[in-house]
Amino acid sequence: KSAETLSTRRLQELDAAHYLHPFTDHKSLGERGARIIERADGVYLWDSEGNRILDGMAGLWCVNVGYGRSELAEAAYKQMLELPYYNSFFQCAHPPAVKLAAEIAALAPAHMNRVFFTGSGSEANDTVLRMVRRYWDLKGQPGKKTIISRINAYHGSTVAGASLGGMLPMHEQGDLPIPGIVHIAQPYWYGEGGDMDPEEFGLWAARQLEAKIIELGEDQVAAFIAEPIQGAGGVIIPPASYWPEIKRILGKYDILLVVDEVICGFGRTGEWFGSQYYDLQPDLMPIAKGMTSGYLPMGGVIVADRVADTLIEHGGEFFHGYTYSGHPVAAAVALENLRILRDEGIVERVRTELAPCLQSKIARLAEHRLVGEVRGVGMLGAIELVRNKQTRERFPDKGSTGTLCRDLCVANGLVMRAVGDTLIMSPPLVISPAQIDELVDTAWKCLDLAALKLGV
Ligand code: PLP
Repeated sequence: KSAETLSTRRLQELDAAHYLHPFTDHKSLGERGARIIERADGVYLWDSEGNRILDGMAGLWCVNVGYGRSELAEAAYKQMLELPYYNSFFQCAHPPAVKLAAEIAALAPAHMNRVFFTGSGSEANDTVLRMVRRYWDLKGQPGKKTIISRINAYHGSTVAGASLGGMLPMHEQGDLPIPGIVHIAQPYWYGEGGDMDPEEFGLWAARQLEAKIIELGEDQVAAFIAEPIQGAGGVIIPPASYWPEIKRILGKYDILLVVDEVICGFGRTGEWFGSQYYDLQPDLMPIAKGMTSGYLPMGGVIVADRVADTLIEHGGEFFHGYTYSGHPVAAAVALENLRILRDEGIVERVRTELAPCLQSKIARLAEHRLVGEVRGVGMLGAIELVRNKQTRERFPDKGSTGTLCRDLCVANGLVMRAVGDTLIMSPPLVISPAQIDELVDTAWKCLDLAALKLGV
């Protein structure tokens, strides 16, 4: 029997019996069973019971051009017939990956002209770890090994990715981080700013980097890695003072900057890359997600000339790569995805129309009695839920209010994600102003329902 002909109940039974999901508490699913998503179009999903749900998360921050793009399916089909697989190891190449590398280099900041392909964002960050260490080895500074990251960052689920990330529950499961990775404070003003104003706090958070470099010794520090805006950590928007101060510090101590563009890349901030939004000059940029709009798995690292030239001029191999690095079908889909983003002016439209629209409309949610702060940049947003707006007092049983609101949203036709008691959103970049109204109206309605349930 094929999956299409199975009833929802049967699929849920098979799921419960056989499928171990990522980031899922299977026990808490219990009788309810997983929600089975069957199809999608534009910004909407349909579950197996026929419910239409607005996908306010673009899948996992990735379906930038929206669902149902037949051009992407056709690009995959054509490429599968032409050359379904070949590798790019051992001095081989194939047209889609070559063209994609050139197109991505053209979109990236001017000093970044080469791309190393991977199968995912996690693999991209594993590549980062090895590449920065190789770079400093080749520069004759093998002591420069430590990578500084931030608490609450997310850089993937592989051992290196989870170590680079700053998610403490992930570290607790498996003795992470691996040696040579340390974490400093995140620029999370609303939650951790105390009495400081945002700009003062931004400087304070950036200077944690300098303090850590001095503590470790600059001859030990290889790189600093950060997302332009921390995504899975709760859409943490750095105060304006933060990035300029980070740049100053990295320049002073000659430490590489790795900007993780897995979420912010390919239009999410209204620029092609978050680095352009914040005027950063990264040495390495891990990418994935929006690169193919999630239609096929693909990632990569965009590499600055300073690093790539060192690797190349030294000669010898970088002993690193994946069977699916630059996979021709994924590359063909990525090329078509870039064409859509470009030809439909999607990034430009985010900057000039959709981001201002989303941000001004979600800002109204701050008037709700459960909401302490609404923040966002581009097509990213966060709604912090608090018990007391004035004192920022949180709800007891951390995370339960976020989960309650998230579940109410799904039941009412909207996917948002809960990070503790913060609701976050990252809709497809093709959402219309009317659909943004729908998102905000549903969110407001669900906040009302939650307030009723909580008796506040
Ligand atoms: N980096 C960031 C900023 C991410 O948000 C993610 C995934 O959410 C990753 C890396 C890991 O990417 P992947 O899940 O493709 O391995």
